[in-house]
Amino acid sequence: MQKGAIRVQTENIFPIIKKFLYSDHEIFIRELVSNAVDATQKLKTLASVGEFKGELGELEITVAIDKEKKTLTISDRGVGMTAGEVDKYINQLAFSGAEEFLNKYKGQGDGTNIIGHFGLGFYAGFMVSNEVEIITQSWQNAPAVRWVCDGSPEYTLEETTRADRGTDIVLHINEESEEFLEPSRLRGMLEKFCKFLPIPIKFEGQQINNPHPAWTKKPSELTDEDYINFYRELYPFGEPPLFWIHLNVDYPFNLTGILYFPKITKSYEIQKDKINLYSNQVYVTDQVNDIVPEFLMLLHGVIDSPDIPLNVSRSYLQGDPNVKKINAHITKKVADKLEEMFRNDRKAFEEKWEHIGLFVKYGMMTDDKFLEKANKFHLFPGVNGSTFYTLEEYRTSAAGLQTNHEGKLIILYATAPVQQDAYIQAAHAKGYIVVKLDTMVDAAFINQAEQKWENVQFTRVDADIADNLIDPIEKTGSVLLADQETALKTLFEEQVKPAHIKVDLKGLSTDAEPVIVTRPEFMRRMKDMAAAGGG
Ligand code: ADP
Ligand code: MG
Repeated sequence: MQKGAIRVQTENIFPIIKKFLYSDHEIFIRELVSNAVDATQKLKTLASVGEFKGELGELEITVAIDKEKKTLTISDRGVGMTAGEVDKYINQLAFSGAEEFLNKYKGQGDGTNIIGHFGLGFYAGFMVSNEVEIITQSWQNAPAVRWVCDGSPEYTLEETTRADRGTDIVLHINEESEEFLEPSRLRGMLEKFCKFLPIPIKFEGQQINNPHPAWTKKPSELTDEDYINFYRELYPFGEPPLFWIHLNVDYPFNLTGILYFPKITKSYEIQKDKINLYSNQVYVTDQVNDIVPEFLMLLHGVIDSPDIPLNVSRSYLQGDPNVKKINAHITKKVADKLEEMFRNDRKAFEEKWEHIGLFVKYGMMTDDKFLEKANKFHLFPGVNGSTFYTLEEYRTSAAGLQTNHEGKLIILYATAPVQQDAYIQAAHAKGYIVVKLDTMVDAAFINQAEQKWENVQFTRVDADIADNLIDPIEKTGSVLLADQETALKTLFEEQVKPAHIKVDLKGLSTDAEPVIVTRPEFMRRMKDMAAAGGG
């Protein structure tokens, strides 16, 4: 038997590793299973180039618990390691990797700002173990070896026997980590971290992963049903998605994935963190801020990119040029897809507008590149519910009639068509087009659109300007006699005690309602803003 001390500067790095990664102990399973996947894929590569000439056999990975012995074992039938390789890859390299990591990130707080792969890999097993054993047999003709380390820098390495090539990593689970010996707990972790790894993984006799998830296939190979089935795989209890976008880029960076648009109605409960980031099918995180544009954070699905740096802190991620490019690419793809849907089947697009509108408006407000494209397919639903207008169509249809003295297009809108029906009727009687802007983003959208669109002004249908709009044409006189008007005006003034309110009476030539009250658009917006809690 060989005994040795692992060559690291730090005396005993394990307590530091444990403390440092405290919040994320469960990732040990991802690290060890993905090592088993790597070893298996290496063997497949060796076989495909003719270097490995033996039988590949069933290349699966098994995860097993022994509650009595308190062990958790991960076994693969991959390349395995010779004694020399254990020394090189485990004793030297993996340890130096762990040490480098610590030197880099010590002093960065509790580790919660670090995502993804820590570069700790194999040593993540020590977060949950008193002792780690490796029993491994190389694919090359060499004796099997057993390496044991209890978490101090000392280890033992001896010859042993193993039935077949491959590696078992045996974790002797420590007292604080006994939860990981619970099958349901472990199954949950495997489903979270290993669900789409590319080699079959078995736990308690069942395969827990789908090695060929939809996003790794070509869009041309997939039917609508395939996409919907994959959505179910991701969110078994979710409502079916509205539509999806398959991302597939290989230059200048690698990016694949499927983004699903959920159905968003008024009663929709916003679910964030529904996009999972993978790196070559290894789960990384569901915190994809910066990578996915903010206005698309409510989408569901998967993105996979080996080009996103995973071993870095969030603040670094923001400045990473690949991350910026990926973000811009996703925005472009979404805009292109929406435009294509709009052009190919406008009716279907209009039917989905209720759900899509939120994203489009939010995107137009926050991203000028998106705005430029979205101007072509952003829609105003008419209050009647059946006609939809792009900005250009509204401009054309309302030309002349709804232009104010500055030459601005006045877009008339209702926020509550039922309550505002009298005003809508009055506006319709004058030939105006009233659109419905009644969603949660519309107030903000209106303010932004007035800044970003030239010569456009929004006016709520019950505002006094809406009335004044056509004054020059319609000043044909009130339907009231002059003394009736004065009497009514006095009556109103007495009732409303107009310290701040100007009473201005007009006899309208509509018979929709006997009386309607309007108020200046500006005043109303100020009040709405105050009600919404300022700014
Ligand atoms: P990484 O996976 O990033 O290389 P790890 O610390 O996870 O770093 O693993 C260190 C090395 O140990 C691997 O590169 C590999 O050479 C070896 N190794 C780990 N697990 C296995 C395994 N199951 N089979 C064969 N080799 C392994
Ligand atoms: Mg690894």
